[in-house]
Amino acid sequence: MDQSRISFAELVALLEAIFLRFGTSRQTAAILADNCARCERDGAKSHGIFRMKGYTDSLATGWVDGMAQPVLEDAAAGFLRADAQNGFAQPALALAREDLVEKTRTNGIALLAIRNSHHLSALWPDFEPFAEEGFIALSMVNSFACTVPHGGQSAVFGTNPIAFAAPTSSGDPIVFDMATSSMANGDVQIAARQGRQLPPGSGVDSKGNPTTDPNAVLDGGALLPFGGHKGSSISMMIELLSAALTGGNYSFEFDWSGHPGAATPHTGQLIILINAALAGAAPFGVRAETLIDEMKSAGVTRFPGQHRFAKRKESDATGIALTTDELSWLEGLAKG
Ligand code: NDP
Repeated sequence: MDQSRISFAELVALLEAIFLRFGTSRQTAAILADNCARCERDGAKSHGIFRMKGYTDSLATGWVDGMAQPVLEDAAAGFLRADAQNGFAQPALALAREDLVEKTRTNGIALLAIRNSHHLSALWPDFEPFAEEGFIALSMVNSFACTVPHGGQSAVFGTNPIAFAAPTSSGDPIVFDMATSSMANGDVQIAARQGRQLPPGSGVDSKGNPTTDPNAVLDGGALLPFGGHKGSSISMMIELLSAALTGGNYSFEFDWSGHPGAATPHTGQLIILINAALAGAAPFGVRAETLIDEMKSAGVTRFPGQHRFAKRKESDATGIALTTDELSWLEGLAKG
């Protein structure tokens, strides 16, 4: 397959041009292009340029408002609320970021509850920077009903990711970011495109029977939560915190059937920030490294985030690898 190498800045500029052509504000285009390019750069393929069709379809069908101006409310000393006004969640976070950091420094802990928002990306691009600034960050987003709760027969939960980022004293931050379904929906779509089967235990077909066929999961079937009843409870918590607490929709509550092709769930997002500088006797980052060292002594060689950090170094050195088909598809989207 023919490959091209493109710099991060070139990819951001190309994606920005696409978002602008599909009717977003300049600020939203810049935020989403940066987010999407970072996913592609770090090898997070299920949330890189693969998602551009979902973004553009959601914009083209009028499902999401690319020109939305989020509104921020100061609810309490440690509680910010943002209404994304049916726009993307990331511009709401950008609007609230400075206040959230200030409240966290003052109070030790603060949260941001975003509602009336759309999130189609990975969570880590927004939360890794908090850890680099010395904060502990926790975030969760609900999505669209495609996951059957443990013991149930039909989809209620989304793939509902949760991300955690924490500083270390010298190395990369500790970051994990994972769907609480057996796998992310984007990976099911990629498996279907590539004609690959899913691992056993990933999902069910439209009759509720276990299947490893990605098309059966996508065509009226559903995913299962990871880890049986335990993962199901975590996914339930994410619904409660991303929807009930924020004022957003549950994954089963919105109806996008009038917007065929729309791919951005209209839900909510919760972000909790903790000031790690207030940790007990020893600095948090030093204690974090004690844990990592012990895990290494126990034989662990692969840490969450490690794959992305390695891929980022490679992309920074040699450019981001795209096939020529992918590049010309993006250029076509930008030009119309
Ligand atoms: P993965 O299962 O690929 O990875 C989950 C986490 O585990 C990552 O932090 C990963 O680190 C780490 N990891 C992977 N393999 C290992 C290993 N062998 N040992 C130790 N750690 C490991 O992620 P998912 O498929 O569950 O989710 C992918 C993305 O999808 C996430 O970024 C999530 O935010 C996003 N998502 C977004 C949704 C939305 O509605 N916006 C919905 C659902 C998912 P590393 O990064 O280094 O691989």
